[in-house]
Amino acid sequence: MKKLFVKTYGCQMNAYDSARIADLLAPLGYGAAAAPEDADMVVLNTCHIREKAAEKVYSELGTLRALKEEKAGRGDAMLIAVAGCVAQAEGELMLQRAPVIDLLVGPQTYHRLPEMIAKVARAGGKALQTDFPALEKFDALPQAGPRGVSAFLTVQEGCDKFCTFCVVPYTRGAELSRAPGAVLAEAQALVAAGARELVLLGQNVNAYRGTAPDGKTWSLARLCAALAKIEGLARIRYTTSHPRDMADDLIAAHRDNDKLMPFLHLPVQSGSDTVLAAMNRQHRRDDYLALIARIRDSRPDIAISSDFIVGFPGETDADFEATMELVRTVKFAQTFSFKYSKRPGTPAAAALKQISEKVKDERLQALQQLLLQQQNDFNDAQIGRTLDVLFEKPGREPGQLVGRSPYLHPIHAQADASTIGKVAQVRVDVRTANSLKGVLV
Ligand code: SF4
Repeated sequence: MKKLFVKTYGCQMNAYDSARIADLLAPLGYGAAAAPEDADMVVLNTCHIREKAAEKVYSELGTLRALKEEKAGRGDAMLIAVAGCVAQAEGELMLQRAPVIDLLVGPQTYHRLPEMIAKVARAGGKALQTDFPALEKFDALPQAGPRGVSAFLTVQEGCDKFCTFCVVPYTRGAELSRAPGAVLAEAQALVAAGARELVLLGQNVNAYRGTAPDGKTWSLARLCAALAKIEGLARIRYTTSHPRDMADDLIAAHRDNDKLMPFLHLPVQSGSDTVLAAMNRQHRRDDYLALIARIRDSRPDIAISSDFIVGFPGETDADFEATMELVRTVKFAQTFSFKYSKRPGTPAAAALKQISEKVKDERLQALQQLLLQQQNDFNDAQIGRTLDVLFEKPGREPGQLVGRSPYLHPIHAQADASTIGKVAQVRVDVRTANSLKGVLV
């Protein structure tokens, strides 16, 4: 059997794509390798969201080149493929800079890897595919294999929003939604293979607009209602959402759909209208606050998570204070916060009023201190409560399992291994730095 090693960088969508690449290559005889040294083929599934992302990939390719040469010296071949958003953004240039690459595919063309492998085997040379035929990709992928208790399922790809700091619209293309039937079929296969929770993925997942065979358009709420009917499926989550696409039926679904978990990741990025406009976020601070109030009306216990960027070009002290004020008002359960960093090719990278690293550092520290306090407060509020936990795998201590609360906390408890894949009630006793501990009731 040939061996495949896939290294995944970046987001959950890339993790989903990496699993699908493994599904796709399995019929060609590729099983999983534990390390690149053992692999006949290495795929780097890259992410372009951070600064210097491409440089990190080139550095990894330098290491792989040495490995490939060493293997060639022993008479063993190794194919090297680069997939994902760096491959999409760099394209042909990447093949010139790193001739060690045999295959280069964008996020929407990795389904063509088998024919590209065959072409390289037949005729030698390189193969490159970086078009945007996303729906063709989904049609061409085989049935999903086992993924464990919680499984990612991509329902939507791409983005039409063009936030001025973000490369996604350039690397993943325009917004596209998979047909409801295709999503339901993949969901059923994942549940049949043991998944109890589905995490629906999309760059703008709540902009989902799937076309059914009768020509009708399904919203994400309607899709979740259909998924909730799948027997054996216990939980549904979705990420990442845009405030502008948080439709009334989706807000109502958090009240009416028992399987939809009370956790919502809804990036706001800034609390200043000036910065939000410069970011082209297409919503204002008050829109976000009003939306959160409506969501909490519908589902009072919902945990809200968000993303923040500090030090966006032109951000003043008053703008930053507006962000702090928004955080104090909303009270977030979990967050991701970053200093603004330029992503090549985006409008904000060319803005004149860049903020100094010192100021960005100070602002990030102040924001993160406040966010951590809120996260700890939210987690402390769970102590003494009994929560439904979907157990996923063994924990670090003997006899311990780890699972997730409805609010996405990792929760550890002593439980029999047969509890994996089941929802059980746990009384929470202790908060540790990043998780909760409790006992089965
Ligand atoms: S909504 Fe904005 S941040 Fe999110 S993927 Fe689209 S452009 Fe990027």
